[in-house]
Amino acid sequence: AAKRAGRNGYAVFDPTMTISVLEEAQLRSDLEQALEHDQFRVLYQPVVDMQTQCVTSVEALVRWQHPKDGLLGPYHFIAAAEANGLIVPLGRWVLREACAQLARWRAESPAAAGLKVNVNLSARQFQYAGLVSDVAEALADAGIDAASLTLEITESMLMEDIDTAKSTLHALRALGVRLAIDDFGTGYSSLSYLKQLPVDVIKIDKTFVDDVHIDADDVALVDAVAGLGQALKMQTVAEGIETDEQWTTLRTIGIDHGQGYLFGRPAAPDEINELLTRVSAISA
Ligand code: C2E
Ligand code: MG
Ligand code: MG
Ligand code: MG
Repeated sequence: AAKRAGRNGYAVFDPTMTISVLEEAQLRSDLEQALEHDQFRVLYQPVVDMQTQCVTSVEALVRWQHPKDGLLGPYHFIAAAEANGLIVPLGRWVLREACAQLARWRAESPAAAGLKVNVNLSARQFQYAGLVSDVAEALADAGIDAASLTLEITESMLMEDIDTAKSTLHALRALGVRLAIDDFGTGYSSLSYLKQLPVDVIKIDKTFVDDVHIDADDVALVDAVAGLGQALKMQTVAEGIETDEQWTTLRTIGIDHGQGYLFGRPAAPDEINELLTRVSAISA
């Protein structure tokens, strides 16, 4: 019926748009409910020292334990939460949960004493005026030192409003937290700009890792980023390492840390506990 109306030129609404507005409203209320009813979970993926394979930190990765659809990854809801603003309370929840979990691991196991945690920030969260105090509060409530927390941001978030981004980064740095650029190489940050930012870690995007063991161009690119990290005194992490060949190539190039299915998938806190003891048993 709507199509017919469209052809006659009398359509006063676009039916597909109406559906998506309804869906958006539904998703928003579902997400609000989910926050209220504790349906979000945080999984943790190990980041390892490239030489020793010891776990040095874990990245917090949010999931939605949906009552009907099961465990949903971020691609199902982060963009919507970003669009409707719920990412701010959701992101705050992830941050607080990750800090609290780090404190629990440390209380449970001496092997977690030096463990750090990485938390992803979204663009909207990064622009939110209460971010710095949220971070300070999460650290204080969990009782962990600021240097144990690394916040991951992307290049596009930095480029949007450079001056504000810079002052936010400096305020976070003043707290003592570490800062990482996520998915590095997929955005447009200039080198001169990067030089001015108080960034501690560069995470090289998986797209440069996928073929690094067979593609000389990727080797050249990753090698350039390793050099950049050295020059700017930033640590490098390669994301999405799945095979021994990739690991060997990246280790030879001199990348400091690695993350990927080869070392461990995103896992529940208990599994990380086991991983920590196992690794410390091996290295002891
Ligand atoms: P990211 O921050 O770059 O996180 C790495 C993603 O790569 C994770 O996907 C992880 O599971 C996946 N990954 C790690 N190693 C491998 C590998 O060896 N092979 C493959 N194929 N994938 C690997 P995930 O958990 O689905 O998260 C996707 C993205 O969603 C994240 O990318 C991040 O941008 C966003 N995200 C996750 N949690 C949060 C959160 O709490 N807040 C915000 N704002 N964004 C989040
Ligand atoms: Mg990340
Ligand atoms: Mg990434
Ligand atoms: Mg990514």
